[in-house]
Amino acid sequence: MTKIGVIAFQGDVSEHVLAMQRALEGKGSAVAIRQARAVSDCDGLVLPGGESTAICRQLESTGMAQELIDAARRGVPIMATCAGLVLVSREIEGDCKVRPLGLMDTVIGRNAFGPQRESFEMDLEVAGFSRPYRAVFIRAPAIVRAGPEVEVLARLGEIIVAARQKKILALAFHPELTEDLRFHHLFLKMLEA
Ligand code: GLN
Repeated sequence: MTKIGVIAFQGDVSEHVLAMQRALEGKGSAVAIRQARAVSDCDGLVLPGGESTAICRQLESTGMAQELIDAARRGVPIMATCAGLVLVSREIEGDCKVRPLGLMDTVIGRNAFGPQRESFEMDLEVAGFSRPYRAVFIRAPAIVRAGPEVEVLARLGEIIVAARQKKILALAFHPELTEDLRFHHLFLKMLEA
């Protein structure tokens, strides 16, 4: 049985667990995890949104940061959303408080849409999806530069809001807040390959 661990320091953890449970359709379970040693039991991981500065501190103080780096090296798929997308990056523009994990060759703008655009919804054209995806953005960061190994899945103008690099899926929006499970299904496919 597939086991997906949702890193549960901050963010809409229960929504992530529920959305993943629905996507798993009984073929596995999703659980909230708070302890570093729980990471190695998981076949896939979700790093939710929240406040990246606070999550960064918790990842480091619990030893979870190193566990995530090790899991990524073993090829364990990771879905990183919103602040999670900040944390898996290589670099954050103009920021020194968050030390990213460096799992993706991306540079992040933390206020990519400007401080006045708190939250909004948008229909996105996503590579491989036959119809648009309604995405919910909340104080969203975005990928402002990406290396050649990064596969861009969706853009808003110049900036990248969904991307994949090998087994890491990074989304600037909140897929746990909508009924549309296409990104969850895409992520679960990454567990098979
Ligand atoms: N802007 C936040 C940060 O960088 C992320 C917001 C979110 O996860 N909804 O921490």
